[in-house]
Amino acid sequence: MRQPGACVRSDKVTFRCPGCAAEGHDHKQEHAVLFEDGRFTCVVEKAHRSAIAEALGVKSALSGVQSPLRGVQSNLRSIS
Ligand SMILES: [Zn+2]
Repeated sequence: MRQPGACVRSDKVTFRCPGCAAEGHDHKQEHAVLFEDGRFTCVVEKAHRSAIAEALGVKSALSGVQSPLRGVQSNLRSIS
């Protein structure tokens, strides 16, 4: 996965929130946060999680913690 502005921190990854971007916000590309356990959210508007899920290619993300995202995060680590 390559998300715009993806930035790997100690325990999470931040990247551009597609929901905020669609509204002309998140110029710093850090509103979306993906945690190590696979959860993710938008720090500005939680309703954007569905848009983030779509960007990540995770359909069932809103339902819980089962996480195909660990692999995603590994990919991000290898990029940076
Ligand atoms: Zn957002």
